[in-house]
Amino acid sequence: MLINNDTIIKDTDPLIRQKSEDVPLPLSSEDEQLLRDMMKYVVDSTDPEIAERENLRPAVGISAIQVGVPKKMTAVVVDDKDKDGNDVRYQFMLVNPRIVSSSVQPAYLEGGEGCLSVVNEHEGHVIRSARIKVRAFDLCANQNIEIRARGYLAIVLQHELDHFKGILFYDHIDPEDPLKSPENALVL
Ligand SMILES: [Zn+2]
Repeated sequence: MLINNDTIIKDTDPLIRQKSEDVPLPLSSEDEQLLRDMMKYVVDSTDPEIAERENLRPAVGISAIQVGVPKKMTAVVVDDKDKDGNDVRYQFMLVNPRIVSSSVQPAYLEGGEGCLSVVNEHEGHVIRSARIKVRAFDLCANQNIEIRARGYLAIVLQHELDHFKGILFYDHIDPEDPLKSPENALVL
């Protein structure tokens, strides 16, 4: 599937609010190809030359509903530090991911979040969990995995999994107090 900034569904389209369905495993060749195309989008989007040439907006993740397919699949590439402060790249092609536990401690990105499906600016803190545990089938590893995510990776995964429920990041911003900062929040 051709995925670029013109074909990605925007929040002006009610389809972005549709709930996504579980995907049968093993993957059909069609579902597998779509997930690989989504991963290619994310990887290519961070290369300025390719992004310019192919009309890709830089992203760390994309979910299938964003290309109009209501299936629980998401591709994520996150560069972060591990617990010991070393550079690490987390790369997942997740099928039917689900959060099995979340920390009480909240976290948010100080600069707010963005989304391929959201064109307008929405200033505000998107309060999420600082740590989550996710179970999924991962096409990168070609097996079921459990991800213990913290910090930025945890935020990205929560953002992507929200797309399965038709939830967009700005739904979480408190209109009364968009820049609120809960006590003990991890600020990233
Ligand atoms: Zn998004």
